Amino acid sequence: SSLMASEKEAALAVAPSDSPTIFDKIINKEIPATVVYEDDKVLAFRDIAPQAPTHILIIPKNKDGLTGLSKAEERHTEILGRLLYTAKLVAKQEGLEDGFRIVINDGPQGCQSVYHIHVHLIGGRQMNWPPG
Ligand code: AMP
Repeated sequence: SSLMASEKEAALAVAPSDSPTIFDKIINKEIPATVVYEDDKVLAFRDIAPQAPTHILIIPKNKDGLTGLSKAEERHTEILGRLLYTAKLVAKQEGLEDGFRIVINDGPQGCQSVYHIHVHLIGGRQMNWPPG
C-alpha cells in the first residue's frame, strides 16, 4: 500500500497463504483493472505501480493452489506454459520489439507480495542486470 516504503517491505509484510487475494477481485471484476488481454484461462492487466513504461501482470483465472511458482505441480505445466505464451502475445501487442523482461517473484526472499501466481511483463526502457 502507499504506507509501505518499498515493494520489499510490502512483500515482507505478507505471509504466504492460499487465501483469496486481490487478484480474485480483479478476475471477478469486483475491483477495476486495466485489462490488456483476456481469454478463458488467463487475464493480463496493468500493474498499479508500474516499474517501467510497460508493466503488465499475467495471471491464471483459476489459481488451483498455484500461489507461487514454488507450489507448482505436474498438473500446472499447461497453465504455466500458457502464462509465458500470453506474455509473448502481450509483449507484441505492446510493441516491445526491442525486448522485455519476464519476472516471477517467489516467496518473501523473492519479494512476492500477492499469493496468486503472476508473471510480470516489464518493458519500454533499458533493463539492468543483475536485478536488485
Ligand atoms: P509481487 O510483488 O511479485 O507479488 O507483485 C505483485 C504486484 O501486484 C505488484 O507489482 C503490485 O504493484 C501489483 N498490484 C497490487 N495490487 C494491484 C491492483 N489492484 N492492480 C494492479 N496491480 C496490483
